[in-house]
Amino acid sequence: MSKLNLSCREASRLISESRDRDLALGEKLTLRIHLGLCTACSRFTKQLDFLRDAMKRYPERDDGSERRP
Ligand SMILES: [Zn+2]
Repeated sequence: MSKLNLSCREASRLISESRDRDLALGEKLTLRIHLGLCTACSRFTKQLDFLRDAMKRYPERDDGSERRP
């Protein structure tokens, strides 16, 4: 039986993992259900998207000190 009751902790872990890897179908589904029910986690998703967007616009200066041709 698949677990439909995701805790917020598990949900936020899945949310951040979904940025790095493809979630399994079951994970996507449970996460989607959780986000539909939980305002805190859907807000977290939006924040994460916002941060990600901001990072893209202002990339870290990791090429400042060492520059290679
Ligand atoms: Zn939650």
